[in-house]
Amino acid sequence: MFLPAKKLLLDARKRGYALGAFNTGNLEITQAIINAAVAKKSPLIINVSESAIEYASLGAITSIIKSLGAEEAAKKIPMAIQVDHGKKIERFPDYIKAGFTALMMDASRFSYEENVSLTAKTVKLAHKYKISAQGELGAVPYKGEEEKFNAWEKAMTDLEQAKEFVRKTGVDYLAVAIGNAHGFYKERAELDFDRLEKISKLVKIPLVLHGASDFPDTRIKDAIARGVALFHIDTEIRVAFSSAIKEYLGKNPAEYDPRKILAFARERTQKAVEKKMEVFGSAGMA
Ligand SMILES: [Zn+2]
Repeated sequence: MFLPAKKLLLDARKRGYALGAFNTGNLEITQAIINAAVAKKSPLIINVSESAIEYASLGAITSIIKSLGAEEAAKKIPMAIQVDHGKKIERFPDYIKAGFTALMMDASRFSYEENVSLTAKTVKLAHKYKISAQGELGAVPYKGEEEKFNAWEKAMTDLEQAKEFVRKTGVDYLAVAIGNAHGFYKERAELDFDRLEKISKLVKIPLVLHGASDFPDTRIKDAIARGVALFHIDTEIRVAFSSAIKEYLGKNPAEYDPRKILAFARERTQKAVEKKMEVFGSAGMA
């Protein structure tokens, strides 16, 4: 059952848990994510980035997600399909036609005014088709951006801007920067939870933390208590999948059937996703 992401996130806020948005770009990882949601009875957001769309093709990856999601066992699980870090606004209508129920517009590297304008356009389009939109304010840095964000203050979400951004764009949920970082970029030793709490009180919409793959359990709980309803998980999935392949081939160097190698990686990835669902508190909430 594919729903607008907002519906899932408001339920999470109301009942005090968070969702994971898990990234996929192929058949096996999609199976791992959906199998985990079914096994844990957890609502779910499936994330597909524009580079994953490029890798797998828009038609192929959305067909895989929709057909697996529609299978009998998964019918009772509320799911959303979200474009992760969308930057090509001219392609958003194609994404909607393909079945996405949430669009993330990432204009965080543009000026504040451009970010407002691009996000507002995305929201308007999304709402026309009764789906949801995420924006990002502040910057969650990637590896390679060390120069640009050498002081955390340059990356953090500004309180007053956040309030105005949400009012001007009408965005449904907002990714914020409080010292979190993507992938293997070294995040701030302590996240700015005080800032997070203040933003949540000002904007009153569900908040999102990206780069949450390596967060310890206590940090997850502290973030949920301060308004976070969604964690983006990409690196953890990549690591689980590829390290399982290395392990399998290390033990079975003569194996040549891709199905055996990938089934092992799929199983391991499912377990990693299930663990996250337990920590987020979304297990049992479907
Ligand atoms: Zn992200």
